[in-house]
Amino acid sequence: MRVKRRESFKGAGGTLGMPGYKRPCRHCGELVPPDSNVCPFCSRVNPRGPLRCPGCRNPVKKGWKSCSNCGLGLETTCPGCGEQTFFGDYCEECGERLTVTCPGCGEEQPPLEENCVDCGEPLE
Ligand SMILES: [Zn+2]
Ligand SMILES: [Zn+2]
Ligand SMILES: [Zn+2]
Ligand SMILES: [Zn+2]
Repeated sequence: MRVKRRESFKGAGGTLGMPGYKRPCRHCGELVPPDSNVCPFCSRVNPRGPLRCPGCRNPVKKGWKSCSNCGLGLETTCPGCGEQTFFGDYCEECGERLTVTCPGCGEEQPPLEENCVDCGEPLE
């Protein structure tokens, strides 16, 4: 008699997805610890995804034109190269980080607002 196994951990990656298991950085492909916020190999943020909306942090997918939650447009013009790119953490064309750092308080944030979301200083 066959016992039905729970397969809740099996996602799109097949055997990947076990908690605590190292997974590849989506930027450089090196294996990074599961709780990494920054890849220790390439120093980029959010090495394991998922991609999130810069406005509301709702998970989004590459190729979406707008966030399914807040409707924010998910394409932006890169400040580094001027190309249209998916609004992820980095430009897909040149790798420029798509955040601005507040000159007032140093808070990093997506280039969405004229003023800092934290302290209200104008962002240059
Ligand atoms: Zn990396
Ligand atoms: Zn959103
Ligand atoms: Zn760019
Ligand atoms: Zn600030």
